[in-house]
Amino acid sequence: MNYISTRGKSAPVSAAQAIKQGIAPDGGLYMPETIPSLSSDDLKELCSLSYSERAARIMSLFLTDYTYEELLADCSVAYGDNFDGYAAPVVSVGERARILELWHGPTCAFKDMALQIMPRLLSRALVKTGEERTALILVATSGDTGKAALEGYRDVERIKISVYYPVDGVSRAQKLQMTTQEGENVNVCAINGNFDDAQNGVKRIFADREFAAELDKKGYFLSSANSINWGRLVPQTVYYISAWCDLVNKGDISFDEKIDVCVPTGNFGNILAAFIAKKMGLPVGRFICASNSNNVLTDFFANGVYDRNREFHLTISPSMDILISSNLERLLFLTAGSEKTAAYMKSLIDTGRYELDKADHEKISEEFVGYYASEDACRKEIKDTFDKYSYLIDTHTAVAVSCANKYLADYADAEKKTVIASTASPYKFAPSVAGALGIEIPETDAEIFDALSKKTSTAIPSQLSAVLTKEIRFKKVIDPEDMKASVLDFIS
Ligand SMILES: *Cc1c(COP(=O)(O)O)cnc(C)c1O
Repeated sequence: MNYISTRGKSAPVSAAQAIKQGIAPDGGLYMPETIPSLSSDDLKELCSLSYSERAARIMSLFLTDYTYEELLADCSVAYGDNFDGYAAPVVSVGERARILELWHGPTCAFKDMALQIMPRLLSRALVKTGEERTALILVATSGDTGKAALEGYRDVERIKISVYYPVDGVSRAQKLQMTTQEGENVNVCAINGNFDDAQNGVKRIFADREFAAELDKKGYFLSSANSINWGRLVPQTVYYISAWCDLVNKGDISFDEKIDVCVPTGNFGNILAAFIAKKMGLPVGRFICASNSNNVLTDFFANGVYDRNREFHLTISPSMDILISSNLERLLFLTAGSEKTAAYMKSLIDTGRYELDKADHEKISEEFVGYYASEDACRKEIKDTFDKYSYLIDTHTAVAVSCANKYLADYADAEKKTVIASTASPYKFAPSVAGALGIEIPETDAEIFDALSKKTSTAIPSQLSAVLTKEIRFKKVIDPEDMKASVLDFIS
């Protein structure tokens, strides 16, 4: 199967090529030419498989230049001992909420689900495409991608990785996780600015032909680990299908039963992966797109206008502090085709805004609804969920739970069960979570972990306590204009 650009102006490429390149030459994002479908027999069979087998089976439908055996070998390692138990368990919380815990990997956020497997896909892609240069991965991160990518790519041969995060835009634990990163092929840099500044800086470097030529001379080419890379998205479709299988296996839903899916959203990658699962044949009703006070997507789904010209808020769910949701472009492509997508994106680049045709907006509204949760609503949800169900959620998950509840109150035709993506361990955002529970916040991170653990009778993830005592390796803070220089510095 070949991959084509959402903007329609680049030649089709293989999956390996799409994963290697990250972004299409015309600035668009790669999409499979067709979405493979799962019959009801296929779904039945997936129900009987392990997580790694499900992942290999589903990914092999998209990555047709990889063999099933290659994918199974990679998935078995990626979703094996690096996770503390089953990779993507579903937990019942009350009558209707089914929480899909995606944070049992090495960095305690859902990014591990993709970034534990993607370096293996890229390594194979270098061989499959006869590439002789070293891949240089540039990552802009709102916190979790950076650490997950560093952990996934560290000390992988013929790959180097440089990560940029907004200096005041990530949690303390996130910052520590990144600045203490081990590995010979890694670099971490803080940016004076917010996430969009970091992301735009990376995008500018990717679009710079001269710079690419300069890197080429030095034996490097650029690649991305952000969710604009298809290699990030395809592993994410797996856990929605897997969650549905697990609910069927438990007898919690019947084989013909649809679920609604609610996802705390930033760059729109995770929820788009869920939408692709539905396009493949997974029985899903609606998608609830949950935002924090950076609610550009809530407005988009309500009135068909995407307008990033608005105030940017730093919130307690920082991984969703985003005003340009890059993967929305893929939804536009699936809805309206490449020509209109290119026009919408041109308008976004030129004016920071675009307005959907009525027909496109109606089509999207059949599948998606948007809600947002304020900071207070988010804190209240953490406390309510814990008080009612003794179940502890992080700030991002709380945004989703709050939005799912609003949706259930508004839509009488909602499905009986809502699968809610839980995207981070509560310990990753411990000060905010502890604060929401009314715990007096002690000074050090170790003390906060202890206080939260004592109050909630939950275990501190060893992945997080380990970084508290590690040496800080990366202290640089730079302006977005200096990112190019920092890249050259890193590889010299
Ligand atoms: C990245 C992230 C999100 C947002 O996911 P997108 O795919 O960017 O929409 C939500 N929650 C957490 C904890 C994250 O790390």
